[in-house]
Parts: sequence; structure tokens; C-alpha cells
Amino acid sequence: MGKVLVIGCGGVAQVAIQKCVQNSTVFEEICIASRTKSKCDDLKAKLEGSKTKITTAKVDADNVDELIALIQAEKPDLVMNLALPYQDLTIMDACLATQTNYLDTANYEPHDTAKFEYKWQWAYRERFEAAGITALLGSGFDPGVTSVFSAHALKHHFDEIEYIDILDCNGGDHGYPFATNFNPEINIREVTANGSYWENGAWVETEPMAIKRVYNFPEVGQKDMYLLHHEEIESLALNIPGVKRIRFFMTFGQSYLTHLKCLENVGMTSIEPIEFEGKQIIPLQFLAAVLPDPASLGPRTKGKTNIGCIFRGKKDGKDKTYYVYNVCDHEACYAELGSQAISYTTGVPAMIGAMMLLTGKWDKKGVYTVEEFDPDPFMEELGKWGLPWQESFDPELVD
Ligand code: NDP
Repeated sequence: MGKVLVIGCGGVAQVAIQKCVQNSTVFEEICIASRTKSKCDDLKAKLEGSKTKITTAKVDADNVDELIALIQAEKPDLVMNLALPYQDLTIMDACLATQTNYLDTANYEPHDTAKFEYKWQWAYRERFEAAGITALLGSGFDPGVTSVFSAHALKHHFDEIEYIDILDCNGGDHGYPFATNFNPEINIREVTANGSYWENGAWVETEPMAIKRVYNFPEVGQKDMYLLHHEEIESLALNIPGVKRIRFFMTFGQSYLTHLKCLENVGMTSIEPIEFEGKQIIPLQFLAAVLPDPASLGPRTKGKTNIGCIFRGKKDGKDKTYYVYNVCDHEACYAELGSQAISYTTGVPAMIGAMMLLTGKWDKKGVYTVEEFDPDPFMEELGKWGLPWQESFDPELVD
């Protein structure tokens, strides 16, 4: 049916590509391009014998001209940006120049400010529409599946959604005192930033990790979770009409938090460059280099993730509550694809989002987040590709 160019070959990309290859009637051809080409070649070798035709290339995704040349040579139907949020705009520029569809899993974040927002990517709306191409933003799990869950809840369960709590629980244990389960630099920027939530039409900002709750997650058990700023809040606040409050909580264990506090206190999480032995270095980038590679956590991680959304609102004039979530087992993910569940839960929806565009099930031209499309075909695919969802109409609520 089509050809994709995947940019990046890290934890998330490796899952997405393996899932595309399992779905070879849709993904007939894949070019894997990244900064370190040997990682692309190793994955290609692992997938030897698959029906999907695979090629590899080296690309610096910070360089628009290099990207344009690669897209012109490969002529994909869609570019899947599975590199880092820093590359979103250069890749969108190259897609515009070559009139090629675009997909990513995380919104743009400038190198020098740890503040991710959609405004930079939403500024491309008219240009993508005029070029007759689609940019699908945030097709991972959160954002991504949590956004589809929201569209699904609105379409099938509510006349009006008033409250959304997005709960991201990683009950996995990798045995290290401190490690991050996706790109360390991006992860630490996210969790050390101020928290915020949306209430009555405005952002409410908190100190980092200032709001803590305890929640008993189905199939995982009781965990401490903390309120974070998260990107889907920004688009859901616009796309779920009349919503009064949206919050995002993520679980963290005490060992992770104690190490993080200590690293913060000594300045290791700073993104301000410092001079070291005559060279400028960014402490957080140095820290990322000494931490375990998230891909190496796969064989060591045991336990489950549970990510989902609790909605409260009105249906037929009555109060209603609805919880929809996915539970994913780290060891089962590793047995299937050689990856831990965080990369798995992000890579699968990246493949499904790409499938929605390639099959034409989602075909609006312009720049859109996932909840702006019909959730039904995406929800149908989730279980088939390893992320079945479950629902409850009487969940424990978060106060
Ligand atoms: P990794 O660090 O494992 O992989 C990133 C990949 O991008 C690496 O292969 C890296 O190359 C490549 N890359 C980085 N810079 C460039 C560049 N300038 N040119 C070409 N390639 C480059 O990250 P993850 O796989 O963990 O995360 C990927 C994305 O997924 C991130 O944007 C992250 O924020 C997002 N994410 C989204 C989630 C969601 O639920 N929506 C959840 C988790 C992650 P090299 O191998 O040389 O380092």
C-alpha cells in the first residue's frame, strides 16, 4: 500500500519499525534513516526475510537540505519522525518542501528551553493544508492513545466531558537505582519542569512534583503518582468542548525521586552550558551519556505498565464516570520484540497512526493532533497490534 521513511532508530523507532514489518500489506517499503547508520543496518539485519522491503540511510535530521535530498531520493508517502522533539520543525520543513505527509510522537521543544508546546507546529497549519498534506502530531501513547481514548469517550460515552485525569503508571522494575525508560535527556527535562493542569479555561502552574496522589492501578497495584505538565492537555483543552479540568499524573518510585533530587541539587540536570576543561558542556547531556541506554533496560525489566484516562461528565442528563486503559507487560514486550514496555507502548501507536494515514482512514489535510480524527478505526487496531484496552464504569477516582 505504501512506503514510509522512518527517521531515528532508537527505542521507539525499533518497535514501530518491527510492527510496520508485521503489517507488511500496509507497509510495503521502509527506509530507516538516522544519525548512527549502523543501528539502522543492525535492525535491517534482524528483520532479514520480511515481506517489507527495507533500506537504510544516514541523515542529520537537524539539516533541512539533507532531509529534503533524502526524501526526494526515497519518495516516501509518509515521514515518521521517531528521532527527538528537537528535530520536529526541520523535518516538517523538509516535508513541506517535498509535499510529503508527516507524523511524530512528541511535540517540538527548543534545545535551550525545557518547555514543550504545540504553538510552533500549529504555525504550519495553513501551509500544510495549502500543500495538500497531513501532519499527524503526537501519535505515541501519551500523547496519542490517551488522545484517541478522549475522542472515543466523547463519541461513545458522554454528551459532555467535564473532567479528565490521565494516569501513566510504570510498575516495571529494571533493578538499577536510577535509569530513565525513554531518552534520558527528554525524560529528565519533562519531570524537572514545573507541573501544570488546565482548569476553567486557564493553566494552573505548580512547583515540580508538588501534587502527589496514591492510586491503586488495575493489575499493577498501589503507586505514588505526581502531577506533571504534559502535552496532550494543551490540545485536549481545545478539542474537548466545555472540559473543566484536565490533569496528568505519572508514577515515580522513591529511589528515582531521591536520585533525581540529588542530581538536581548538584546541578547535573541543568540545561545551561558550563565550561569544563576548555569545552562547553551541558550538564544534562553529560548525565544522559552516563546513564543506562533505555534500550538496555529491556532484558532486565519486570512488571507492567497501566496507562489510561478517567473521564467524568454527563450522559443523558446524568453524571457518568468512565475509565479506559491499557495494561502492558514489560517481559512480554521483550519476548516479542526485544524492547521494554515504554518503547513498545509508544512504537505501536506510531505504526497505527501511520497506518491510518496510508490507508486513507484519516485523511484531513493540515496539521492535526490525534483526537481530531475518528477514534474508531484506531481503537479497532490497538488490540490487534499488542495494546488491548479495558474499561470500567466504576473506577476509583483521583481527588
Ligand atoms: P532514543 O534516544 O532511543 O532514540 C532517538 C533516535 O533519534 C536515535 O536513533 C538517535 O540517533 C536519533 N537522532 C537523534 N538526533 C538525530 C539527528 N539530529 N538526526 C538523525 N537522527 C537523530 O529516543 P526514544 O526512541 O526513546 O524516543 C523517541 C521519541 O519518542 C522522542 O521524541 C520521545 O520524546 C518520544 N516519546 C513519546 C512518547 C509518547 O507516548 N508520545 C513516549 C516516549 C517517547 P543516535 O542513535 O545516533 O543517538
